[in-house]
Amino acid sequence: MTTVSERFAKDNYAGAVLAVLRMRYRCRSCGATFASREALRAHIRSKHPVSYYAPRIGYVSALVLVALVGGYLVLAREPPAQAVGAPISGIECWSMEQVAYHVHAKLEVYVRGERRTVPANIGIIPNRCMYWLHTHDATGWIHVEAPREIRPTLGQFFDIWGQPLSRERVLDVDLVSSGLGMRVYVDGKPYDGDPREIELIDMREIVIDVGPPFAISG
Ligand SMILES: [Zn+2]
Ligand SMILES: [Zn+2]
Repeated sequence: MTTVSERFAKDNYAGAVLAVLRMRYRCRSCGATFASREALRAHIRSKHPVSYYAPRIGYVSALVLVALVGGYLVLAREPPAQAVGAPISGIECWSMEQVAYHVHAKLEVYVRGERRTVPANIGIIPNRCMYWLHTHDATGWIHVEAPREIRPTLGQFFDIWGQPLSRERVLDVDLVSSGLGMRVYVDGKPYDGDPREIELIDMREIVIDVGPPFAISG
């Protein structure tokens, strides 16, 4: 036996459950419920146009922003390195230091027993370009830094340095008129060929010894 109020509560509960099942789509702005997604969408579009369109506008804005930022980054990027200076003896001068091929050779020049300085920054034109052969300091290390493997010679390095190199003349020394001789060593061994033809391969040590007196006894 159930009381009237109990039956009322039971019926009402069933009705509420049915209503919830029927009206599953609830408007987050005003709480109104709808039986279908389409009905809820139509309600939001007509009653709450801002909340209907704002997320879509925001989405489009985000896409536009991403496109603008992406475009800016592409345009503002460093231009690709390229040859900007006149090549010297086939060695190019590029806007950025190249390290795809990066080896070093050492050069020592002696005149009458005195070490001559191979200056820093040979082959570097400030704010413009770097030749694939250059020096960073005055230690005599020649940097070969190129976008691909190259086989440069000591003659090409002297051309970039702007100094003469032959068996008759090196730097400011005229061997013929001053009666001097030139001894050349490559990796410690005497070298009798044309000094311009010595290849600057990795870790090669080249000594040009003009005398007498000579710096290297031999
Ligand atoms: Zn360098
Ligand atoms: Zn280097």
